[in-house]
Amino acid sequence: MNQRSYLDYNATAPLRAEVHDAVIEALALYGNPSSVHAEGRAARAAIEAARVQVARLVGARPEDVIFTSGGTEANALALAAQAGEAWHCYMSAVEHPSVLSGGRFYRETTTTVPVTADGVVALDALASELEKHRPGGWRPLVSLMAANNETGAIQPVAEAAKIVHEAGGLLHSDAVQAAGRVPLDISALDADMLSLSAHKIGGPKGVGALVLREGVSVEPLLKGGGQERRRRAGTENVAGIVGFGIAAELAAADLAKVLEIAKLCDELEAGALAIAPDAAVLSARVPRLPNTTCLAVPGAKAETLVIGLDLAGVSVSSGSACSSGKVEASHVLRAMGVAPELAQGAIRVSLGFATSNTDIQAFLRAFGELIKRLKQSRKVAA
Ligand code: PLP
Repeated sequence: MNQRSYLDYNATAPLRAEVHDAVIEALALYGNPSSVHAEGRAARAAIEAARVQVARLVGARPEDVIFTSGGTEANALALAAQAGEAWHCYMSAVEHPSVLSGGRFYRETTTTVPVTADGVVALDALASELEKHRPGGWRPLVSLMAANNETGAIQPVAEAAKIVHEAGGLLHSDAVQAAGRVPLDISALDADMLSLSAHKIGGPKGVGALVLREGVSVEPLLKGGGQERRRRAGTENVAGIVGFGIAAELAAADLAKVLEIAKLCDELEAGALAIAPDAAVLSARVPRLPNTTCLAVPGAKAETLVIGLDLAGVSVSSGSACSSGKVEASHVLRAMGVAPELAQGAIRVSLGFATSNTDIQAFLRAFGELIKRLKQSRKVAA
């Protein structure tokens, strides 16, 4: 079989070989981590070692890491209305659907904050929205992702946190895409809660974490046993958590290679723009994840490009993976006000730890062929 070029890391990253081996080994740890006997203690020790590894990735304390079934559950847990107070939830218009669904918040207690044409949250709009509610005595809970999954645009989390804290609120940041791609530190971000997902950093699917700042508490979504310090009931996914821990450690080490990824991504963008000079790189004017490029080709259909690239052995996405299959522009591009003709031709190319120059060249060859065909079909139609 010909080698394929996988350029869809924001949908999911390949499982790292070291993670694969650690997960297989951990499957043999059959004890219940809550049991006091030797088998239980062995499983418990494996979980606690992983907790330290995950905490290190974001500069948190291990006891503040709550393992969940993934980024979606971590977001839902963060947005489970905190007990004992009246909260109002604010979220940027470009959040992942698992945030936009609002957790346990009702529509009336949820406000969407707009983003600029570059896909970055409008901080002045956030400040004035918070100001509006202040007299009502509501406490704000603000959810602002660390980086967007479609455009890679990095959000001003620390600046937003300052505004939110001045208003007496809490800030949650969905860091699922930023983790392992840019350095992350919960204190530097000034965030109260951070969501992580193992499969975006080369770990297994179905495991993630909500990481809390020291002193922050959450209302459990799942009640029952006393696992995760009574914050998330259910017997732990021991092997998944072990894999997450190894992936977190490797992802932290890989941050040293971020410039190499950025260089490959720059080459891809420059090459693509040379092939299709009328194409646009979305969020090009703002800081972005070094691995992500959202390329919009006017007059093209993203689905046609994705399928054409797939047939040539190159994997990319149109819009976010969760919404792929939908023909209309993604909610992210709509929130940015991208013209529909441009948005419908937007593909997301995302690189990662195993990407090489060969993959970039494979993309450019296949993209070049597709654009040539597009131009020919335009000539025929004219
Ligand atoms: N948040 C962001 C920004 C994402 O990109 C995703 C996955 O695409 C999620 C949350 C959901 O994570 P999971 O797939 O682990 O539920």
